[in-house]
Amino acid sequence: MRIYADNAATTKMSKTAIDAMTPYLNEIYGNPSSLHSVGQEAAEALHSARERMARLLNCEPKEIIFTSGGSEADNQAILSAAAIGERKGKRHIVSTAFEHHAVLHTLEKLQKRGFEVTLLDVHENGMVTPQEVADAIREDTCLVTVMYANNEIGSVLPIPEIGAVCREKGVYFHTDAVQAAGHLPIDVQKDQIDLLSLSAHKFHGPKGIGLLYAKKTIPLTSLIEGGAQERRKRAGTENIPAIMGMAAAFEEACAQMEENREKVTKLRDRLIQGLSEIPHSILNGDREKRLPGNAHFCFEGIEGESLLLLLDEKGVCASSGSACTSGDLDPSHVLLAIGRPHEIAHGSLRLTVCHWNTMEEMEQIIQAVKEVVAYLRSISPVWRDLQEGRRTYVIQ
Ligand SMILES: *Cc1c(COP(=O)(O)O)cnc(C)c1O
Repeated sequence: MRIYADNAATTKMSKTAIDAMTPYLNEIYGNPSSLHSVGQEAAEALHSARERMARLLNCEPKEIIFTSGGSEADNQAILSAAAIGERKGKRHIVSTAFEHHAVLHTLEKLQKRGFEVTLLDVHENGMVTPQEVADAIREDTCLVTVMYANNEIGSVLPIPEIGAVCREKGVYFHTDAVQAAGHLPIDVQKDQIDLLSLSAHKFHGPKGIGLLYAKKTIPLTSLIEGGAQERRKRAGTENIPAIMGMAAAFEEACAQMEENREKVTKLRDRLIQGLSEIPHSILNGDREKRLPGNAHFCFEGIEGESLLLLLDEKGVCASSGSACTSGDLDPSHVLLAIGRPHEIAHGSLRLTVCHWNTMEEMEQIIQAVKEVVAYLRSISPVWRDLQEGRRTYVIQ
């Protein structure tokens, strides 16, 4: 038995997406820049994929740049807005303390180049308010970048309202929508978004492909120099099979969104209910405004890493949602941003489910987590100190 509950890290590809790719790995292998018929078949496919993605996001096809994924799209969006700002003497950017590293590290790079960055504090429930964004915007602000939904704790931010604030103040608004795309309805016009990043492998499409939506009036900076692909904004022969897989996966995800959301929300709610029964545990992220498939907890007195390894032995694939997994001893910047103290930020668990998971699997996960948490506590000196009153509980 193996239960996959790490869909925020990546998803299994859908059969529809794989089937949409195979002709482009086999017969239709041309380079869309070639003038002959083999190349032109690929060019037509590329054109249709761009139109389909544009229709679903409610933008124009020429406002879409295909990238290697969410990280590249985040980099390009931020560096482009910064370059425009720089030309006007505007070198201030507003963001939040719990963005993905693709955003935070790009902002750090800009800081070294003399930009000033305001990282908004995040409330305990994983929220930033439109008013806080409004208050942080200055005369010299060239960009606001706020994620649509957080990849660790699953909170969904008030993006249309933040978009309205930015529009009113005349500041470009970028959103990293990698966790939301294909799971929540996104409309770049209604949500007043100027720049948006998404990635196919988070909605059952292939890895290594994503896109940047940029309103047509925004001149983009190219990160990769070379040929004239993607309106000269992203050189390199287009990854046609992956682009076709992304378009098919996105269409499928959007068509099944309501149905999947209902199913996945039920699974998630059962997880939250079951895991809340563990003493001295706390749910991270807003209870209501959260991604359908995300359940994220901190457990007092344990280490997230040992929890993950023991869960894996029981066949449950999960994540701590933190940097600990990558050999970094610092606790997750997201958990610190929402004010969780170091002691409990280390004991975190992220379970992210999809429509292929079952209720039976949720019961098995709950059982496995309960057993592993109890075992780890039984051998933890910290837990003994808590139990014997030599330390006080952070989570009541
Ligand atoms: C996964 C993820 C990314 C990175 O996307 P890649 O396609 O893997 O580069 C960026 N932002 C968020 C919120 C993500 O969850």
